[in-house]
Amino acid sequence: MNLVLMGLPGAGKGTQAEKIVQKYGIPHISTGDMFRAAIKGETELGLQAKSFMDKGELVPDEVTIGIVRERLSESDCEKGFLLDGFPRTVPQAEALENILSELNKTMDYVINIDVDQEILMERLTGRRICKSCGATYHLVFNPPAKEGVCDRCGGELYQRADDNEETVKNRLDVNIKQTKPLLGFYESKGYLRNIDGQQEIGKVFSDIDVLLGDLSK
Ligand SMILES: [Zn+2]
Repeated sequence: MNLVLMGLPGAGKGTQAEKIVQKYGIPHISTGDMFRAAIKGETELGLQAKSFMDKGELVPDEVTIGIVRERLSESDCEKGFLLDGFPRTVPQAEALENILSELNKTMDYVINIDVDQEILMERLTGRRICKSCGATYHLVFNPPAKEGVCDRCGGELYQRADDNEETVKNRLDVNIKQTKPLLGFYESKGYLRNIDGQQEIGKVFSDIDVLLGDLSK
């Protein structure tokens, strides 16, 4: 099964990726891991990517796409793969189509874990951290017994600057703007499957599982 996993920050993509990989035994291919492996292995493309990253520049598409092609050609991808973090743009998605056809593979599904923006805001801005011991809490999912106070040590809880409403909203807006054309592209290809990510974690996975179960038959 050849899959792409999509979802906004806070949608629960990492958790679901872990479950898919565990059940179906396909490699989880995230862009970050792929770059790290190519750089560590000192492949030609890895070295090219590194030279851009060392200069603080974005790695150009042709290098990224080359690294994806190499990774998907490896033997552990024969039974399938779960791509995560790639593609990010329509040109990258078109390049992926070409790679797959060169490798005699076809895309099965693009799974999009769908969660309303308001709920993502609640999930992403609710984190609180203890100033003294570093324990983390969540106002909704793991609240401290007494507001603003650490259960463990009585320390004061604070919100990281990265988690404040404005920063989170900006991050989501950028992501939504970026993924919209990509979702449209995959919808037009017939690969897109939206999964309701507002259910509890086990139910989200069982919906994905039903979808994938048909493929492994
Ligand atoms: Zn504490």
